[in-house]
Amino acid sequence: MQTNISLEEAQETLLSLAKPTESEESVRLEEALGRVLSKSIKAPYQLPPFSKSPLDGYALRAEDIEQATPAEPVIIKVIEEIHAGYVAKSEVVAGTTIKLMTGSPMPKGADIVIKYEDIERTADAIRVFQPLKKDSNVIFAGEDVAAGEVIANSGDVVTPALVGALAAVGIAMVPVYKKVDIAILSTGDELVEPSEALPAGKIYNSNLHGLRAACSNLATNPIMMGTVDDDKEKIVNKLLAALEISDIVITTGGVSVGDYDLVPDAILEINAGIIFKGVKLKPGSPIIVAKKQNKFIIALSGNSAAATVTFQLIAIPLIKKIMGLKEYFVPTTKAVLMSDFNKKSQQRRFLRGVFQIDYAGNSVILADSQSNGALKSMIGCNALIDIPAGTQPLVKGQVVSVILTGEL
Ligand code: AMP
Ligand code: MG
Repeated sequence: MQTNISLEEAQETLLSLAKPTESEESVRLEEALGRVLSKSIKAPYQLPPFSKSPLDGYALRAEDIEQATPAEPVIIKVIEEIHAGYVAKSEVVAGTTIKLMTGSPMPKGADIVIKYEDIERTADAIRVFQPLKKDSNVIFAGEDVAAGEVIANSGDVVTPALVGALAAVGIAMVPVYKKVDIAILSTGDELVEPSEALPAGKIYNSNLHGLRAACSNLATNPIMMGTVDDDKEKIVNKLLAALEISDIVITTGGVSVGDYDLVPDAILEINAGIIFKGVKLKPGSPIIVAKKQNKFIIALSGNSAAATVTFQLIAIPLIKKIMGLKEYFVPTTKAVLMSDFNKKSQQRRFLRGVFQIDYAGNSVILADSQSNGALKSMIGCNALIDIPAGTQPLVKGQVVSVILTGEL
């Protein structure tokens, strides 16, 4: 067991112990967003499936209008009219054209499309005033995707663009890794559910719900294990029940050194192997990560900001690896700090903030409160400011390192 290790040691240790899930399933396209592909996807069809017109115009043969000039326009006979979704019955032969709308298949025999705006229409013919190079205004079959081409790889996240591309090549069922099951449980005699009345001395359980939401956001399957009292036997039973039905168990509270911090004892009692205990960062240093068989237990502090920060920095990379993703870490960058921070940072410290980007560069606004338990100030935060151990108070205008934990 390692104790008081660095964040990077914690992350690397966990990633080296975690294996990507191998369970796969096939989900409908409508349910695939955010999931991780378990297989590469080859396009069964070329895209577009046929050569077509990118505009409203007339399909004809380039050679027929080679001699066209404004003074001596070439007259071409209109023999048919089609729109998208229909195939022309006739073939374009010398001196003829087919009128078509955007998306119409190219009629046989035609090799160009000339725009409505560039011709003059008479009752049954068009007058063309200039030549057009062969293949002009044609979108060719297979131009976007060739039949059999790999359009996405195993380990890719299904994005809206990929959903669209899969639909375009006629894929309705998507092979993905099964969702990682994450059991979340809170410990603490003081906790009640938000749906209940609030007796004196109690607080509502926010971690359970906040972490559940964070797990949903990652396209995992959060399992609510509820709250357990500060009672070792009860924690033991709940941990065992959680391990039965999940890949990862996340607990909050009771992980420090107080009289009622019983999670460490419970983890020992169930014979889970502690991987590390304590990480050198603030907030959230009293974290324990253990493994029982191939399942992880991540025990986080009960303080909401501490639980959130350590979930983001330590739990998420592990979860991403198990999900089958290829990238485990979010981007980091530098930004100009927009306000002072008056405390020294003896330990490495992560401050919550709002990262912004504009033409002048990156900036980051500190959340109003950096207290371990603060909740309101975390709303809207999308970044953690990484302050190295041994740093003096920070001043506005200083450049700081930033981890992008949320959307801009
Ligand atoms: P603990 O980690 O159990 O020592 O708890 C640290 C602080 O976080 C205490 O003020 C707890 O009341 C609070 N706390 C613990 N668990 C939760 C929770 N699930 N939701 C909100 N606050 C909590
Ligand atoms: Mg507690």
